[in-house]
Amino acid sequence: MTQNVTPICYYLGYYMTRRKKSRAQLRNETEFRIWNALVDYANTGAGFRRLVIEGLEWINGVDEDLQSCADIQGGATLESLAVRYREKIRTVLTWLSNPRNDVIGNRACEILEQGNAIAFEWNPENPDPKEPDSSLILEWPSSIGSVLAPLCKFVKDQIDRHDLKGEPLRDVIPVGMCARPDCGQFRVIKLYRRGRIFCSNRCKVTFHQANRTNKEKAEYMRQYRAGLDRNKPTKKRVGRRRSKTGGK
Ligand SMILES: [Zn+2]
Repeated sequence: MTQNVTPICYYLGYYMTRRKKSRAQLRNETEFRIWNALVDYANTGAGFRRLVIEGLEWINGVDEDLQSCADIQGGATLESLAVRYREKIRTVLTWLSNPRNDVIGNRACEILEQGNAIAFEWNPENPDPKEPDSSLILEWPSSIGSVLAPLCKFVKDQIDRHDLKGEPLRDVIPVGMCARPDCGQFRVIKLYRRGRIFCSNRCKVTFHQANRTNKEKAEYMRQYRAGLDRNKPTKKRVGRRRSKTGGK
């Protein structure tokens, strides 16, 4: 009996662990990469080219399709567009972090409508006689309203997963704004939990310190230092002892 119970518990535990992780893991790798690129660009202004290429790939495009974008055709460089569009992406992410704010929602939706400005060219796929279910149409973008349009379409596609297919909001839109006032940085949420979201540990500590009274701050720092004194030298001593023994 005992021999049977142990493996069942083991597999059940393994299965439950897998299930807990699965919601976050279900999120497609490509989608997660685009959210990360959007957040990096919104936070720092960097990585715009990489983000734009990710967007083109999302609509079955390639690097060369950059030339089909109306703003590039109008003579703009990616560097100038990176400056022009950053605030728009920040507006969209601000709204997605807190969709109940309908003032910013109107502005965000106006920006996302750019995703409609993409035309596709369709051609019949060469049918594979051995594969009755092979694709019928080969599709690629023929004209693109702006380099932002594919990214707007990406965001709308994710919103549709929530609105039309009923997937949980933070499973498909894993973006939050740092809870520390005056920070303004976004963060991709890897595993969604209720509660405050911070862009970094530094913001988390600063936020909690700001809500403490002077007496509480002093007590926190006393405990923090006590923790440091207890832990740090012990680690070093263990390291030295080991190295001495190893030397002998
Ligand atoms: Zn922050």
